[in-house]
Amino acid sequence: MLAHRVEHFVESVIRDMTRLSLKHNAINLAQGFPDFPAPWELKRAASSAIMDDYNQYSITWGAKDLRDEISRKAREYNHIEADPDSEVTVTCGSTEAMMASMLALLNEGDEVVVFEPFYENYGPDAAVSGAVPRFVPLTDDNSIDGDVLASVFNKKTRALILNTPNNPCGKVFRKDELKLIADMCIDYDVIAVTDEIYEYILYDNKKHISIASLDEMKDRTITISGFSKTYSVTGWRIGYALAEKTLTSAIRKVHDFLTVGAPAPLQHACVSALRFSESYYEELAGMYDGKRKLLYNALIKAGFKCSLPEGAYYILADIPEGTGMDDTAFARYMVSEVGVAAVPGSSFYRSEAGKHKVRFTFSKKDETLMEAARRLEGLSI
Ligand code: PLP
Repeated sequence: MLAHRVEHFVESVIRDMTRLSLKHNAINLAQGFPDFPAPWELKRAASSAIMDDYNQYSITWGAKDLRDEISRKAREYNHIEADPDSEVTVTCGSTEAMMASMLALLNEGDEVVVFEPFYENYGPDAAVSGAVPRFVPLTDDNSIDGDVLASVFNKKTRALILNTPNNPCGKVFRKDELKLIADMCIDYDVIAVTDEIYEYILYDNKKHISIASLDEMKDRTITISGFSKTYSVTGWRIGYALAEKTLTSAIRKVHDFLTVGAPAPLQHACVSALRFSESYYEELAGMYDGKRKLLYNALIKAGFKCSLPEGAYYILADIPEGTGMDDTAFARYMVSEVGVAAVPGSSFYRSEAGKHKVRFTFSKKDETLMEAARRLEGLSI
């Protein structure tokens, strides 16, 4: 006998593809984690923290020195003022920050606006909170249709999830689009919950803008980010949520009972991550730009239709015409016959649009991507 809330959950397709990838000895371009080392200074800081005995529970909402650094970074990079004592919560990854925020905000029957394509966690996050997701498809060129956005807002709308840069399509929301979203949130008294985990992975001079930095948005936004992607430490599980005092106090309560706290020595190490110089972030974006082009060229050569993403580290590609396969069949064919794992597009869509797409990550060593490119040449359709 199981709870109704889990009845409609399907196991993560992404992790399922990882399993298949291992079975077929395929190159795993399904799950978005780096296969290259984390920065040496960061590993050194983590080992020192353990040896220096930062080994017991830290303050449940995060070690003081980490909250101080996050607050400084938020001011300087995101243009958000967040008081480290009452407006910053350190969590077990941004995943927990998102779940804790939804549990803190939503009641049974509330509605949550989610742009499509979306990161696969948001639906289950809303469902666990008893809320109903309302999807807003982006247009073919990844823009917002203002009329479609306006059509989903109503008096039950309580929150809107905004992921920029976006996984899976790489969209980086522009200021005018954020302003449109902000106006809707203000008119309907809605809280924006953001997922800004790829905030430093940007291409072609795109700029990251946090919606909380827009007029009248600071107190109606929960800004979520973390260390997984920027510092290539997805296994450390350190993230955070920035929110106005009353919201933070609710998020902290949920967080305390869910996890007590994020790993203490790794929190300590993350303080040094936030003190990396400007050049670290430039090199990170430059490195991913090279990988982006490598994978893009390989996919075009193999017959996929796709465009270069503006941010994050994924390419969402149209399945080549004439395969006669839907996304799931095609992803299975790719992993077993071509030796490259990708994620079926329907993981990111509620509509049928995902059935013609697959997502690849390029968060891999160049040699991994080159081997994938070589295998993709063998795609015979
Ligand atoms: N949000 C998005 C959009 C992601 O793509 C991912 C990981 O792939 C996460 C959140 C998970 O982040 P974390 O490791 O901080 O929980």
